[in-house]
Amino acid sequence: MLNTLTISETTARLQRREISAREVLAACLDQVRRVDSKLHAFLALDEPDALAQAEAADKRIAAGEQGPLLGVPIALKDVIAVRHQRLSCGSRILENFVSPYDATVTGKLRAAGAVIFGRLNMDEFAMGSSTENSAFGPSRNPWDRERIPGGSSGGSAVAVAADQCIAALGSDTGGSIRQPAALCGCVGLKPTYGRVSRYGLVAYASSLDQIGPFAKRVRDAAVLLGAISGYDPKDSTSVAQPVPDYSAALTGSLRGLRLGLPREYFAAGGLDPQVKAAVDAAVDKLRELGAEPVEISLPHTDYAVATYYIIATAEASANLARFDGVRYGLRVDGKDPIELYGNTRGQGFGDEVKRRIILGTYVLSSGYYDAYYLRAQKVRTLIRRDFLKAFETVDAIVTPATPTVAFRLGEKSQDPLQMYLSDIFTLSCNLAGICGLSLPCGFTRSPKLPIGLQLLGRPFGEETLLRVAHTYEQATGWHVQKPALD
Ligand code: GLN
Repeated sequence: MLNTLTISETTARLQRREISAREVLAACLDQVRRVDSKLHAFLALDEPDALAQAEAADKRIAAGEQGPLLGVPIALKDVIAVRHQRLSCGSRILENFVSPYDATVTGKLRAAGAVIFGRLNMDEFAMGSSTENSAFGPSRNPWDRERIPGGSSGGSAVAVAADQCIAALGSDTGGSIRQPAALCGCVGLKPTYGRVSRYGLVAYASSLDQIGPFAKRVRDAAVLLGAISGYDPKDSTSVAQPVPDYSAALTGSLRGLRLGLPREYFAAGGLDPQVKAAVDAAVDKLRELGAEPVEISLPHTDYAVATYYIIATAEASANLARFDGVRYGLRVDGKDPIELYGNTRGQGFGDEVKRRIILGTYVLSSGYYDAYYLRAQKVRTLIRRDFLKAFETVDAIVTPATPTVAFRLGEKSQDPLQMYLSDIFTLSCNLAGICGLSLPCGFTRSPKLPIGLQLLGRPFGEETLLRVAHTYEQATGWHVQKPALD
């Protein structure tokens, strides 16, 4: 059962030579073979390549090298480039596209000796909250296979929750790491905008996208974050801020920390009473552990969903213009270039992606630009200011990660607005450019489904989030509970 280990357990045992990287990889691959026909977290596996990486890691370990990720199998959301591997983004239009290069995060993981072994399912181009928009079929929630795992990084959350890998990476534009982590019962962290290079991440909404870790434990998220963070000359939006030792932030003490409870989030209509009860209990626990919860206000919260769906779709319409049948992936010929573009995009993109391109093109078009796009940019500034003002008096903010637990497959797929509302608590973090983390804080009774606690932090305040999350995790037992997969 080596696949059930955490990152720190894996490296400790590798260092003691009790196990080999090849054995850990084999255990993960066995688990994929055992459960993935039911869960569909993986779009692809590259076993020969992974085996070669595991062998190389074993040699490095035998030569006395040590490292926090050396020999650890990690799977990536299929929107992060891995050299010479497919990069489908969950879309037909890129189904056969093979990446000629590594993303910066992929290169960093390789340098650290991680074993990169699979490509994870996702909503097409990261647009969605359930993975039902994947062109290759949805992933399923390991706690109840009739339910969605969340999205868009649903495959990443499922693979970690079902012990198919030791940890994973995903991307978060409006909640796509935190929401599936919450719904599947793992830890998910969206770093501050600029913390992690986006070079080699296929762009959805460039002013919002960030790559981040999915892990079984807070400590693992800290280790992974440290490995992928840092300035990158290939991404002009990455920030030259030193990368702290995130593990050193896990002090186990909350003394002196003030935690803000935004009243708008706790009073939100549609907040499931069982979710609210679990989050209230988590706040009590945090108080018991020495933190001081205080009520705060984020007055522009109501505008987050509208603002996000204007800005994200506007940026998506521009970013996705490059998939025209000429340079990448699918080409469906026509009598002239215009027809070729139309045929390729018509057949290559799914309904939700088309809806977003149309919306985004509309809000950017002349006559509507000022009314929608420019206005949304102004409201975005107000939302960011709400947070910066709150962080003058509190060290972190505590909220539910999602308004409900995992919903049924198909339940919201015919109603885009209902689907958009499932990200109501996660979108603002991306609009503000701050960092956010989700971790398990309980379960509903029947069916038993995970509930996520969201922590939001100052720009480059990941250490505080990790410290709060780790202290809470160590004082509770939620993270050790596992779904029954048989
Ligand atoms: N669900 C949101 C959307 O569809 C967020 C997705 C994401 O973070 N990539 O845009």
